[in-house]
Amino acid sequence: MNYPRGKCRQCGERLYGHVDGGYQCLNCEQRYPSDEFDTNTR
Ligand SMILES: [Zn+2]
Repeated sequence: MNYPRGKCRQCGERLYGHVDGGYQCLNCEQRYPSDEFDTNTR
């Protein structure tokens, strides 16, 4: 599920799960790999 997780290092906005995996900041569109943050899904 897409759920807010973590914070963007650039602007501090919340990150959301991306359909392609990993996370994306909706504010500045910075993408992060899923292993950048604590993940308990797998
Ligand atoms: Zn951002």
